[in-house]
Amino acid sequence: MKIIRSINKIQSLARELRQKNNSIGFVPTMGALHAGHLSLIKRAKAENDIVILSIFVNPAQFGKNEDLSKYPRTFKKDAQLAREGGADIIFAPSAKSVYPGNYLTFVEVGSLGDGLCGKFRPNHFKGVSTVVAKLLNIISPDALYLGIKDAQQAVLLKKMVADLNFPVIVRICPTVREKNGLALSSRNIYLNAKKRNEASVIYRSLKSAKNLAIKGERNPRRIISFISKSVKSGSKGKLQYVECVDFKTLEPLKRIEGNVLLAAAVFFGKTRLIDNIHFKIK
Ligand code: AMP
Repeated sequence: MKIIRSINKIQSLARELRQKNNSIGFVPTMGALHAGHLSLIKRAKAENDIVILSIFVNPAQFGKNEDLSKYPRTFKKDAQLAREGGADIIFAPSAKSVYPGNYLTFVEVGSLGDGLCGKFRPNHFKGVSTVVAKLLNIISPDALYLGIKDAQQAVLLKKMVADLNFPVIVRICPTVREKNGLALSSRNIYLNAKKRNEASVIYRSLKSAKNLAIKGERNPRRIISFISKSVKSGSKGKLQYVECVDFKTLEPLKRIEGNVLLAAAVFFGKTRLIDNIHFKIK
């Protein structure tokens, strides 16, 4: 497995690989790899000749009071996991090379970045779409692998790829969870075992809410209030939001039908966790 830090080097290596008829699967991450990331690498490996994994803690997607400086950086361990997981190349550029001092250009995907997490993290999705657009231009992969764990990000990036005609297939992969249901996240490192167990209430609540909808509940307000009560009564977590939106447009639903996405953000102490569940109601 190669580790490359230079944009020019990865660009020419990717070009060379494509010229030799290798297909390239690309998995963008911020590192602190866990089994969720590894599932994306595995899928990319199964569907492509070469897997490129990027590890880049993207300053443009962190707000002023967020955890950019504290975000877990575990490069040595990541490199080992990535190698064992089947990645062929790690691309890990410096922030300075991605955003030199005179940097000016940003990508925004209309209103898709405004709701859900975007309400509480202004400019977050502008940072995400910008860095992924840059990485796609640098690597020109055949396929891009994203997790539905970050549902708003996945929907928004899929739309960016379509709107800007990036010649790449977007593959959205399922969420890998702990046995208790807690979605794996790099930020789970901040929680001890007891808190991680407590945080599993998020997914349990989303699942029960989905069952209510499947059994016939069509009122989004009642579903939202059910989730919020369930999280409050089952933990000390502080809800930032619970929403019930259309899975494609991310607009709040007036009635539970079609492609439904239930999404929540909950603080456990200073650690903000997000999770979601999606389903179809005919
Ligand atoms: P991150 O390093 O948090 O930016 O995540 C990199 C990619 O891994 C994104 O596409 C995430 O949606 C995906 N991802 C994060 N957590 C999980 C998980 N538990 N299961 C599957 N994919 C995940």
